[in-house]
Amino acid sequence: MTAPGLRPIPRKLLELTGALRRVNRACSTFQTFAEVLRLPKRQMTKLAFPLQELQRHLTPDARLDLHVKIFDPSLEDISKAESVFTATGRNRIEYLSSAVCFIGRSNVGKSSLIKALFALAPEVEVRVSKKPGHTKKMNFFKVGKYFTLVDMPGYGYRAPEDFVDMVETYLKERRNLMRTFLLVDSVVGIQKTDSIAIGMCEEFSLPYVMVLTKIDKSSKGHLLKQVLQIQKFVDSETQGCFPQLFPVSSVTYSGIHLLRCFIADITGNLKTDGFGQLELNT
Ligand code: GDP
Repeated sequence: MTAPGLRPIPRKLLELTGALRRVNRACSTFQTFAEVLRLPKRQMTKLAFPLQELQRHLTPDARLDLHVKIFDPSLEDISKAESVFTATGRNRIEYLSSAVCFIGRSNVGKSSLIKALFALAPEVEVRVSKKPGHTKKMNFFKVGKYFTLVDMPGYGYRAPEDFVDMVETYLKERRNLMRTFLLVDSVVGIQKTDSIAIGMCEEFSLPYVMVLTKIDKSSKGHLLKQVLQIQKFVDSETQGCFPQLFPVSSVTYSGIHLLRCFIADITGNLKTDGFGQLELNT
């Protein structure tokens, strides 16, 4: 039905709006891992272990190039890790000091990723900008008694002038910094400005991890090409980078649960028993 005086909305547009609404609804339900576990096995694997799912499309030889089994928690472990990211009376999530940090080029999807990680704590305010380069200062999210996540200002386009000073000083001097998460846009791969950040991590011998953002944006073929290229780079050109890549999408939540589990693990919040039996440290 169309209101009088208004031109009818074209059917194609209505269909598209409906489809978008369905996608949005589907995506928002995957914030919790319990929802992911209800999916059919193939879809579930795709969402929880994006790298593993990509690997299926490679020839056996090329498969060896991706280190998908280095951090390979069980589904139960991933579920357990979620409680670290859930706000309760005993687990307050607020801004404060530090422990793991997220760095990346402006517009790489850093705010969106942090927002997705904290989707179970909606009271945590993470601003996602429409314009690139809005994160001008460091933000600290104290995750209960577990750890603090440090959101660094974006570099590259319109980065604050004191970025290098601020970030370098922080990265060099922070003793309790357990891991740096270096975000790379999976659509465009490693850019010149990313190489500068990589160089910085290498120079200061920081243990860091490469997170590939926006994996929902590319075709599978393009994504695979980028992933293999980046994996090759990590294997041959880096010393301090964790060998396993973490592809994520803040839109579909693919890879987010695995990343939560990895963060909980490296910050010492999961008692690991050979990656087989994990328990939350309370
Ligand atoms: P930041 O500058 O690194 O904090 O980047 P933002 O999180 O603000 O994201 C920059 C742009 O990329 C925004 O328009 C986001 O909506 C978009 N974006 C971020 N993550 C994703 C993702 O996983 N998938 C898609 N399709 N878009 C994303």
